[in-house]
Amino acid sequence: MIEIDNVSKWYGPVQVLRDCTTRVARGDVVVVCGPSGSGKSTLIKTVNGLEAFQQGTIRVDGTSVGDPATRLPALRARIGMVFQNFELFPHLSVRDNLTLAQVKVLKRSRDQATANGLEYLDRVGLLAHQDKFPAQLSGGQQQRVAIARALAMDPVAMLFDEPTSALDPEMVGEVLDVMTGLAQDGMTMMVVTHEMGFARRVADRVVFMDEGRIVEDSAGEAFFEAPQSARAREFLARII
Ligand code: ADP
Ligand code: MG
Repeated sequence: MIEIDNVSKWYGPVQVLRDCTTRVARGDVVVVCGPSGSGKSTLIKTVNGLEAFQQGTIRVDGTSVGDPATRLPALRARIGMVFQNFELFPHLSVRDNLTLAQVKVLKRSRDQATANGLEYLDRVGLLAHQDKFPAQLSGGQQQRVAIARALAMDPVAMLFDEPTSALDPEMVGEVLDVMTGLAQDGMTMMVVTHEMGFARRVADRVVFMDEGRIVEDSAGEAFFEAPQSARAREFLARII
């Protein structure tokens, strides 16, 4: 579903991605981990065209992201992205957060968008909160709404960039539970996270990055049982 081949990226003179190659098969969950500044966010943002890259190719469901002929808004509409800081529209109710992009981007009718959005809101356990504004919800609830909003667009894949890093510890579990359910339902997912318990339970593969390089790309179990590189071993020793 996601094919990343020999991707390199520079910010001015500074190279932040170095010849990155990996695959995310349909229905797989790939966890991306590594030290701060290693390029994890940059890598997943290149997948939906939020960050440009200078070398290599990325294809999502066969569409080339870097190709100037590719319409990025249409591509982005097919790839759900959930960030650390929820990014809900603060001036819109939960229900309107769920429907806006369906109406504007997918041209669904308001009724259709609402029915679809509320189905996903129910799925993340927040149907009763549809009339509230984001500020009236806890961080964990806001992040679940953000996930429901992304799912309402019927994405072919979901990208998560440290979705639980900004949450109080007691709210991390409810968000990881929603993500685990998604994984079990067969969603294709690329997840940047430091939650190694979640990674161990859910990841089909783990990509470990350091200094802009993909240093390891292994089956989930293999990574945790026997990391190949000294850097990954150090990282795991510090984080677990
Ligand atoms: P991670 O998500 O693994 O912490 P990032 O992808 O955010 O790492 O960053 C990778 C590198 O790119 C870091 O050295 C960071 O300082 C640099 N970087 C990120 N965004 C920018 C930017 N907009 N301009 C310049 N450098 C950036
Ligand atoms: Mg990051």
